Amino acid sequence: MTSCEPTVHEPTLPDEWELVVGLEVHVELATQTKLFCGCANEFSTDPNTNVCPVCLGLPGALPVMNAKAVHYAMKLGRALGCEVHDSVMARKNYFYPDMAKDYQTTQYDKPTSIDGELVLGDGAVVGIERAHIEEDAGKTTHVGGGGRINDAMFSLVDYNRAGVPLVEVVSRPDIRTIEHAKAYVNELRDILLAIEVSDAKMEEGSMRVDANVSVRPVGSDELRTRCELKNINSVRSMGRAIEYEARRHIALYANGEAPRQETRHWDEEGGRSTPGRSKEDADDYRYFQEPDLVPLVPSAEDVQAIDVAMPVLPAARRARLGELSGVSQEVLATVVERGQDGLALDAIEAGADADKVLTRLQNDGAVDDWSKLTSSSLAALITMETSGELTATQAKQVLADLIESGGDPAAIAVDRGFEVMETNELEGLVDQLVADNPDEWARFTSGDDSDRKKMQGFFTGQIMKATKGQADGRAIAQLLASKAS
Ligand SMILES: [Zn+2]
Repeated sequence: MTSCEPTVHEPTLPDEWELVVGLEVHVELATQTKLFCGCANEFSTDPNTNVCPVCLGLPGALPVMNAKAVHYAMKLGRALGCEVHDSVMARKNYFYPDMAKDYQTTQYDKPTSIDGELVLGDGAVVGIERAHIEEDAGKTTHVGGGGRINDAMFSLVDYNRAGVPLVEVVSRPDIRTIEHAKAYVNELRDILLAIEVSDAKMEEGSMRVDANVSVRPVGSDELRTRCELKNINSVRSMGRAIEYEARRHIALYANGEAPRQETRHWDEEGGRSTPGRSKEDADDYRYFQEPDLVPLVPSAEDVQAIDVAMPVLPAARRARLGELSGVSQEVLATVVERGQDGLALDAIEAGADADKVLTRLQNDGAVDDWSKLTSSSLAALITMETSGELTATQAKQVLADLIESGGDPAAIAVDRGFEVMETNELEGLVDQLVADNPDEWARFTSGDDSDRKKMQGFFTGQIMKATKGQADGRAIAQLLASKAS
């Protein structure tokens, strides 16, 4: 290991350095067909089956713009608060085996959307420089030599992905922490799902993140040489990659050296980045306007129609729930991410305690299908729990039944024989247990913290067993504590 190979184990970067990150996220649009031809836009089919002369770049084949893709791109631009205006397609010229035409049809100096912003859960704002339409490349698989092109025995190429519509969302270098980088990607994913333009699955490559990373001394506003990290395939992997890269830069500066502007490949298994090609300037690509496609010229009415049809976005939905409750951002995010916020709002409106509704959903609502659970039955259930008619354990079981088959929570509670035990009945049980288990009781009353915890678990478990889960956990804890004092 050389002097500029950092180790990734410290939780934070050295105090005197500040992280500067900008993210480029490629989003695959969920259209039926590709961007310029009628081939199916599908993940995971046999190689080279969704292809035609257009997406194979055969001579004389002409592109036809997919109107749905343009609509989705504009919708995403507006959801990110961008100005959506006239744009033109351009050719970005380069050779790579996965790009049969030897150029990528993309947008260059006139992108569809510019100047937006993304507001994170904690209120931090990340500027969006642009969001432009482009086509995806095919996929190469390098066989042998560790999967890298230089050492491979041979390479396979699959053009099914060639021509799939993408929007590349380019943030400004406004991100200062790894947590914010993660929050940015999660928020963007939630927006994509809310406006239904992409399935946003990082694991299937329908959302791909490249991170531009540099560091600078705290207090400085310079932008130092950045490296672009590729091959990041999860939010967690992105966090590790950014941290590694920042430490590498800091180590280089400490050594009197400087990083080179380049693209680097993130090696998730090895936990390190390795140099790829040195970063080209835009000049190298010889961009020019695509002669086979007309400019995209949305009217003011087109943009207005998109705004009118825009669903309420995740940030606003979290804010709405947050106004009504005192739960954590994490709970709000989970409920909104699952799309259960409408249900929760209706239950709260029907009179149920907001915090209880949200925490109950967060803890026990992680299911694919909750269509049988109505807001009125949820409200009734939470009210029974709040009033003490049901214990927390019982409420959890009734909720599971409601999700499974719907119905009336009061009737379900009766069917299951749920009645809250009277306190004196519970007290009798506790007395009996204490008498039967003097050693355990001694450990509870005079043991150390760990003993006390263990024994609390023991007594609670015995009581739950004896009452078939009908005792209230809080009441047990209170009884044990008052007896011990
Ligand atoms: Zn095609």
